[in-house]
Amino acid sequence: MEKLIITVAPTGSVPTKKNNPHIPITPGEIIQTGINCEKAGAAIIHIHARNPADETPSADFHIFKEICQGIKEETNLIIQISTGGRAGTEYEKRSARLRLKPEMASLTTGSVNFPSSVYENSPALIRALAQDMRTLNIKPEIEVFDVSMIQNALDLADQGLIPRPMHFDFVMGLRGAIPATIENLVHLKNTVPPGMTWTVAGIGQYQLPVCVHSILMGGHARVGLEDCIYYKKGVHATNEQLVDRVARLSKMMGRQVATADDARDILGLSAASL
Ligand code: ZN
Repeated sequence: MEKLIITVAPTGSVPTKKNNPHIPITPGEIIQTGINCEKAGAAIIHIHARNPADETPSADFHIFKEICQGIKEETNLIIQISTGGRAGTEYEKRSARLRLKPEMASLTTGSVNFPSSVYENSPALIRALAQDMRTLNIKPEIEVFDVSMIQNALDLADQGLIPRPMHFDFVMGLRGAIPATIENLVHLKNTVPPGMTWTVAGIGQYQLPVCVHSILMGGHARVGLEDCIYYKKGVHATNEQLVDRVARLSKMMGRQVATADDARDILGLSAASL
């Protein structure tokens, strides 16, 4: 089986230091987390920006720039910028950060009803973001909150907006998204055409079980405080601990862990950047 690519999603848009004091908020904290998580086995870092003053989500280009520059200087990690909409839903706000030309960026190919809001990704917005990524040679990670989003992404590939092979991230167990059952994970995996790669982000208590199953099923793993703030019930995690745990589990089950350069080979990033 190919090596396991571990993505760390250290910050996200929602949790604050009140929820878990280890959440990295400032660019300096996020960069240091990247250094530590690379040592622990991460290959990709999924980046959100926050306003350092009040910890709210930020779409500020300069904050993204400071984080990306620091990660690039201090680590060999693959940078994956979130184009998620919680820091502002307009296209301009979500696309400006792509000018930093990270190797990857997230692309959600559908809308979701969160419990009290709509995570809106209109067809026009998805196409515009996909086109930007194509132009700037950024590999999308297709964020899949439900099965239909896989088909939406394949349709965009047919239209030449997303290069193949594609890489998917199954977001499971979030209220409003697909429930984190093993049957659903098998179904998602089987819906992805052969030759494409996938990872899985289980939310909250589901982070650990879906990662374990993904290790065994040939998928990859995303961990981090964006998705789960606990190491176990009642115990706050650090990002490093979550990366270290999934790396150790993978090795115990006989599957090696990918370095960032291994991950570039698996995801076709090395070839794409030539
Ligand atoms: Zn995210």
